[in-house]
Amino acid sequence: MTDLLSVDAARDAILARVRPLGTEDVPLDEALGRVAARDVIAAHDVPPFPNSAMDGFAVFAGPADRRLRIVGESRAGTPAEVPLGPDEAIRISTGAAMPERAEAVVMVERTTTNDDGTVTVHVASESGDNVRGAGEDLRGGTVAVAAGTVLGPAAVGVAATAGTASVPCARRPRVALLATGDELVPVGQPLPPGGIHDSNAVALAGYIARAGGTVVSRTRVADTADATRAAVESALSDADVLISTGGVSVGEHDHVKDAFLAAGVEEVFWRVALRPGKPTWFGTRGDQLVLGLPGNPVSAMVTFLLFARPALLALQGAPAILPRERAVLTVAVQRNAQRDEMIRVTLDGDRATPTGSQGSHVLTSMLAADALALVPRGAGELPAGAQVSVERL
Ligand code: AMP
Ligand code: MG
Repeated sequence: MTDLLSVDAARDAILARVRPLGTEDVPLDEALGRVAARDVIAAHDVPPFPNSAMDGFAVFAGPADRRLRIVGESRAGTPAEVPLGPDEAIRISTGAAMPERAEAVVMVERTTTNDDGTVTVHVASESGDNVRGAGEDLRGGTVAVAAGTVLGPAAVGVAATAGTASVPCARRPRVALLATGDELVPVGQPLPPGGIHDSNAVALAGYIARAGGTVVSRTRVADTADATRAAVESALSDADVLISTGGVSVGEHDHVKDAFLAAGVEEVFWRVALRPGKPTWFGTRGDQLVLGLPGNPVSAMVTFLLFARPALLALQGAPAILPRERAVLTVAVQRNAQRDEMIRVTLDGDRATPTGSQGSHVLTSMLAADALALVPRGAGELPAGAQVSVERL
């Protein structure tokens, strides 16, 4: 037992075999959640031109209580047609281009317009007052969004303002999902005696989408050697990653490992010193990654998060592993003698509290979880107040 791979060693073995996927140009509208394959370079300064930070009047720098002739207007999108002269003011809106030669903006609240077409400015202005300089946000030619960034709404917004319409992104990993088990019934169908709903496929499809992958096939297969082989072969015909659940342990009806080998998948490891998730299997066929996850729903989710998610991120060139954080257990936790345990916890600041029963069949233990906490194998219990390292979900 003690020679089982540690979680970290298993993960390293997987990441060492990841060959990043090619890239494709993705329009910004479709880029949410994608990973930038190259730096996005600002095509121009942002803002592109000096403009007003206020509604008011563009003026020369000068003392308070000047009376200036209004000679035009600069609106957002429609710059003034005339340059500013001394003793003149140009009405200006927020975001409108600074008129030629204008040095400052006086906010409208600090002015009084007069009936004779003049404006009295009540405050002194220094050059640059209420003016946003060109390139204050981003200089043209500099990095607006760095390669490897998972593009969120802010990143696509920055790319847009920097003059980019599409971003070269890693191709989405194509993932085939295979749920094994005679007992599995699709969601929405009544349960026969002994049947359970296939929840793994639904949960993992969600996690896959979150990790930037596309589920290209979703298959349920009965516990026979022939059916499992055929399903594995077919799933591998068009996928970067195959993820199966169930049938990977030592039971008489577990055919997944043999089916992988029969399909030409080379085993890298089987079994990890982990609870839940000991029977996890990993192998490769060329650049294809094949993960046999255990069937217990919690085991399937935990092993997905520990092993499959980093692989999907690494395929896209994104940082694969979140930094582990330190937390303090609020209650004592029994340790497992042989296997490191990943318990589901809620986090309150750095205080980690297990989410109730930690049985690998207790799916609701995942529901409230903020993080997985690593309880290292060993004797006895880890007392309340002990430090653990946690990985946020
Ligand atoms: P196995 O790893 O095939 O021995 O399955 C372990 C446990 O997980 C059994 O109780 C199965 O019924 C359950 N299980 C397997 N696959 C699924 C699935 N797709 N959805 C929900 N439960 C499953
Ligand atoms: Mg099974």
